[in-house]
Amino acid sequence: MRKLRIGILDLVARGPTRAAYARVMHANLASIMPQVLAVWCEEEGHDVRLVCYTGFENLLEELPEDIDLLFVGTFSQTAQLAYAISAMFRDRGVVTCIGGPHARCYPRDSAKYFDYVLGFTDKSILQEVLGECLHQGPVGRRLSAERQPLALPGVRQRWKYIEATLAKSPALKIVPMLGSLGCPYTCSFCIDSEVPFQPLDYEQMRDDLRFLRGKFRRPRVAWHDPNFGVRFDDSLGAIEEAVPPGSIDFIAESSLSLLSEPRLQRMRKNGFKALLPGVESWYDLGNKARTGRSQGLEKVAKVSEHTNTILRYMPYLQVNMVLGLDGDEGAEPFELTKRFVDLCPGAFPGYSLLTAFGRAAPLNLDYQRSGRVLPFPFHFLNNHHAMNVRPLNYEWPEFYDRLIDLTKHTFSKRAIARRLRANREMIPRVMNVVRALSSEGNGRIRYFSKVRELLRSDVAFRAYFEGETTRLPEFFHNRIRKDLGPLWEYLPGGALEHDHYAYLRSQPRVEEPLLQLRIAEG
Ligand code: SF4
Repeated sequence: MRKLRIGILDLVARGPTRAAYARVMHANLASIMPQVLAVWCEEEGHDVRLVCYTGFENLLEELPEDIDLLFVGTFSQTAQLAYAISAMFRDRGVVTCIGGPHARCYPRDSAKYFDYVLGFTDKSILQEVLGECLHQGPVGRRLSAERQPLALPGVRQRWKYIEATLAKSPALKIVPMLGSLGCPYTCSFCIDSEVPFQPLDYEQMRDDLRFLRGKFRRPRVAWHDPNFGVRFDDSLGAIEEAVPPGSIDFIAESSLSLLSEPRLQRMRKNGFKALLPGVESWYDLGNKARTGRSQGLEKVAKVSEHTNTILRYMPYLQVNMVLGLDGDEGAEPFELTKRFVDLCPGAFPGYSLLTAFGRAAPLNLDYQRSGRVLPFPFHFLNNHHAMNVRPLNYEWPEFYDRLIDLTKHTFSKRAIARRLRANREMIPRVMNVVRALSSEGNGRIRYFSKVRELLRSDVAFRAYFEGETTRLPEFFHNRIRKDLGPLWEYLPGGALEHDHYAYLRSQPRVEEPLLQLRIAEG
């Protein structure tokens, strides 16, 4: 096999930014798979250059030149940027390949702009791409392994890529690690609900943790597991065997159902400092939140009590919720969330707008069958810049009014001050204030208010939200153009649009008449 010059691009940001939160966190949000690909490509004897784009670089200067093959790892919010970059490199004769969540959610669309589209990627899939490395004509080749790989290169092997990326982070340096893939829970909106749970090698985990203690005085590790602690005793046991208690700070996403008090005690002893559980809804998913059949106010009370218990053990807690789910109706869900904010002043509430990412989750088929999915460009599919499912029980103006009211309540001066008082340690205190005053608090209030104003004043804008037209409003068009900057000129014709019914269309023919009806209605 000829020796290839390979570029790997990990897109964290969708455009230039100066937000304080982005400055602190973006380099810490680098993905693991681009680093894995870099290690595997080197093991195959190729030259590799990996770039993590955080929004602070001049992307045109950072991108590697003189390469034969470019891999781009991307979420949907950076897909249009990825498409433009791919077009630019293909013009230069470079073969391009896309992987990551966007490629899994929208494989057919991705294949229009890349030579290769990767689903689950193991080393043999990669070897196939490296061995062939050919331009594929108008439609790229889609490859996927049957399942996630059984083993991945650990921190020790990925270190030079981790180190180069963390050099971009001025204050916090957080190392990404994985202890498991997939999730045994079946939350119908989640991309990981369909991926079988699989722990990774505990011996490698131990080795990586010991390795990190030689690199930092006090390392910080973020577990990228979809749901950390499913095999709780095995995971904590590996940490306890590897390093002295509390010598590494850990961050993890974990279900409330896994976070009993004895476990929290053990986690605190072992240096866990930040947890990000998901509550998602006050009316549903009780198993995940360990609230059983409780709903509404009763669930708020139980979750609040549990949250405040966690806060006695963890300095930092972000509780995630999805807004606009089908079970929500009227003022109550928003008022319950405000109540939760008041009852748990130390927790940072993370709000996501209901979003159907292509074929990510089984529930998305239902949204498509009922004709409620909207064609918002990928650039806005990041859980807050657009909600691409028409809410079942709200008119858009009402929904945005309630969203703005909740966001203002959550990031009011009073709430920020209460959060500050409730958080004990310096980093959580600073982080929560920065988040509230930066893009997440004030930034979102401004953005949601602008959308609300346009829903009132601009008939065409409202028609787009109602699914009555697919003509993209200027407001969104201009934002993409601004974010892509000089790369805008490379964005291929038609790349702002995608088939938002592609998942349904890919189903057996029995769906076809229904689909035609929906499209005719839309
Ligand atoms: S518990 Fe979390 S990771 Fe698991 S399926 Fe539900 S949302 Fe996804």
